[in-house]
Amino acid sequence: MARRAAGEKAAAQGRRRGRLTAAAGSATLFAMRAKFDTLGERSGPLLRPLRRALDLVLPPRCLGCGLLVEDQGALCSTCWSAMTFLADPLCRSCGLPFAYDPADSPTSGSGGDSFVQDLACGACLAQPPPFERARAVMRYDDGSRPLLLGFKHGDRTEAAPTFAGWLARAGRELLAEAEIVAPVPLHWRRLFARRYNQSALLASALARHCGARDIPDLLQRRRATPSQGRLNRAERHRNVAGAFAVHPRRATELEGRRLLLVDDVMTTGATVSACSRAALKAGAAAVDVLVLARVLND
Ligand SMILES: [Zn+2]
Ligand SMILES: [Zn+2]
Repeated sequence: MARRAAGEKAAAQGRRRGRLTAAAGSATLFAMRAKFDTLGERSGPLLRPLRRALDLVLPPRCLGCGLLVEDQGALCSTCWSAMTFLADPLCRSCGLPFAYDPADSPTSGSGGDSFVQDLACGACLAQPPPFERARAVMRYDDGSRPLLLGFKHGDRTEAAPTFAGWLARAGRELLAEAEIVAPVPLHWRRLFARRYNQSALLASALARHCGARDIPDLLQRRRATPSQGRLNRAERHRNVAGAFAVHPRRATELEGRRLLLVDDVMTTGATVSACSRAALKAGAAAVDVLVLARVLND
């Protein structure tokens, strides 16, 4: 009896080990895939057969639902149409989209556009954020959630080049002036558990788009902060106040330079505000913020 139980236990361990090995194997293949996707056409004719072989082993799947798609890093048409991309007119400061139809406005036309670009939302007028401009690619909602969760927790790291392309488009004015790109950091314990910082992957892929310097360890989390999930706006700000600092070895590189801070999701802006304050305190000339998705209240 005892021998049978031990046998079953060993078999279960073996299965678990097998699953872990398989997971590690596919993670390596995904990493190779991502490398090829980053290289793009530059991978050259010599590496093309290897790329094709990878396509056979890991066929391209929709970043949202996992359905087979034509190209690596693409979305199926259902997931694509479920997305809400944010576009002008936006608050010049925090990037909040205005519920406004230019066709209905007496200020529409070329003069109207510049008028609209100069508007700030009520919250930014009442209390200007520490960062200069924040922009987001899309709205955080039922359409974008699977994509973001897959990237953050589901090892769908091959999405980074696609997301970087979207970020580069949504933040082109920010990228044009950025000198340093850095991610919102994870606490080391969370980084250890998750194995990668999704924001650091975005920042590195984005730095390749704009030629700014990528400094993944620019900011550090000085203390682990409880999850912000259930907190309201004021609690979120208190929760992360003073939680970030510029790495002492990186301070001279940041001094007098313009920082582009990258994160995956912005909820109330508490985290990116705390990071911006830390960067400004260490001597950054200005901070801009670029995120994939932003939570918007109706
Ligand atoms: Zn899909
Ligand atoms: Zn605003």
